[in-house]
Amino acid sequence: MNTTHTIESNKEKSWSKRRIIPQEISKYLNNGRCFIDADRIEDALKKNNAPEESRVREILQKSLTIETLSLSETACLLNVENEDLIAEMEQTAAEVKRRVYDNRIVTFAPLYLSNYCVNDCLYCGFRRSNTNSKRRALNPDEIEREVQVLAGQIGHKRLIVVYGEHPKSDVNYIASSIQTIANVQVKTKHGTGQIRRCNINAAPMSVEELKLLHQIGIGTFQVFQETYHRDTYEALHPQNTVKGNYLWRLYCMHRAMEAGCDDVGIGVLFGLYDWKFEVMALLQHAVELEDKFGIGPHTISFPRMEPADNTPYTQNTRHPVSDRAFRRLVTAIRLAVPYTGMILTARENAEMRRQMLSLGCTQTDASSRIGIGAYADATEEQQGDKQQFILGDIRSLDAVVRELAESGYITSFCTAGYRCGRTGKKIMDLLRTGCEGHFCKLNAIITFREWLDDFASEQTKQVGEKVIEKEIAEVKEKLPSMYPQLMNFYQQTKTGKRDIYF
Ligand code: SAM
Ligand code: SF4
Repeated sequence: MNTTHTIESNKEKSWSKRRIIPQEISKYLNNGRCFIDADRIEDALKKNNAPEESRVREILQKSLTIETLSLSETACLLNVENEDLIAEMEQTAAEVKRRVYDNRIVTFAPLYLSNYCVNDCLYCGFRRSNTNSKRRALNPDEIEREVQVLAGQIGHKRLIVVYGEHPKSDVNYIASSIQTIANVQVKTKHGTGQIRRCNINAAPMSVEELKLLHQIGIGTFQVFQETYHRDTYEALHPQNTVKGNYLWRLYCMHRAMEAGCDDVGIGVLFGLYDWKFEVMALLQHAVELEDKFGIGPHTISFPRMEPADNTPYTQNTRHPVSDRAFRRLVTAIRLAVPYTGMILTARENAEMRRQMLSLGCTQTDASSRIGIGAYADATEEQQGDKQQFILGDIRSLDAVVRELAESGYITSFCTAGYRCGRTGKKIMDLLRTGCEGHFCKLNAIITFREWLDDFASEQTKQVGEKVIEKEIAEVKEKLPSMYPQLMNFYQQTKTGKRDIYF
């Protein structure tokens, strides 16, 4: 080992040691215990292992009132095996989605900025012991080039920006990269392209660090627990790493809320432990946030583990999640936490994505590339050693938007929510009562118009026009008081004005 390498590695070690602040865990515990209660979960799953049809139907009715389900109600849903009843549950899940989010789907792209990582998660291609992985953190010029493609050529308005945990991608790097992204403006056919919302997926942080991110203005702060099953967690995340600390990760959303970042995204990496246990634990997490802060998770993610280069663990899981189980868990999450946004990613293949969207997912990515620097330089993507895992669906945004439109969905590029203060509790209340939908419907029409004019292929534009016509007719009929203002904004957008919103 050469001297520079030793100094670097000592620096990483001392940085890692300072990451965890014990009192930023202990202050949130309930009498020294955490909110994940594995015994209660196991007990509820056992007691409700053969639910009666009438009970299941009662639970479905409760979901339709957009009320969070209890642990035993969710256990009932997870234990249904009768195919006809499962079909009923799926229809109800779709109806819950329609009541809260109508026919809107939000699209985004992942942007990986750094794959340096001090952790060693067994399932991840970026883990520090993976010597096949070439490490890189993009500098401001490189970030700008990525955004020029994303915002200027593809037409994305919303990103999830992803970072490994490392001193080279610490909170200052995160803050300045978000500012770099926000400042890029690209000339398009009829206006300017720009990223308007940056959600971030990064390691857990302290309250002070999260306050900094809140100040510069991030969208959703997303951290997946990976698995809520503590023994499994500790086996997959070596105990001498920062990520090895289960509770530091579990309470990161409490710290986010305290810091003012009230749009938080939780999730599980499915395939690490029993999927029924994980859905129940996600629910306990949502309820804990509702109880402590009056706000549940803005989004829930449910990635399935994918193969990754030089990462044998991904091929040998003891808890594989079949397509059937995946359908059931997506349905159960939709019904158990009816107000939450549900994110489906391009890890899943195109056919699976079609099926899952109809079960109540609200957001999905498209034209995704997960190699570092891969939007500006496509050859980066072909190099498996730079990727975290392998994607299942690499279709363009244009192709995904067209397919969505053909199936009756409108793609919303709206990012108004957090820019006009509709976040956290405000948005939760609006979602539960169905009122958020009014703003969203109008903003979806305006932003879809923008995107069709600036980025769509002729074929997609034709299908998109029909969707817009139908949406405008619905506003005229169902929200007549909003119609004149909608048409005013719509005409302005048609003549090239950009970024107008309700
Ligand atoms: N380093 C940060 C962390 O771990 O929280 C954030 C970035 S990490 C790259 C984002 C997410 O990728 C992880 O939370 C994990 O759920 C997911 N992931 C890791 N390996 C994966 C794999 N083999 N297949 C699918 N998703 C994976
Ligand atoms: Fe690092 Fe995140 Fe990958 Fe774990 S999942 S190795 S923390 S990038």
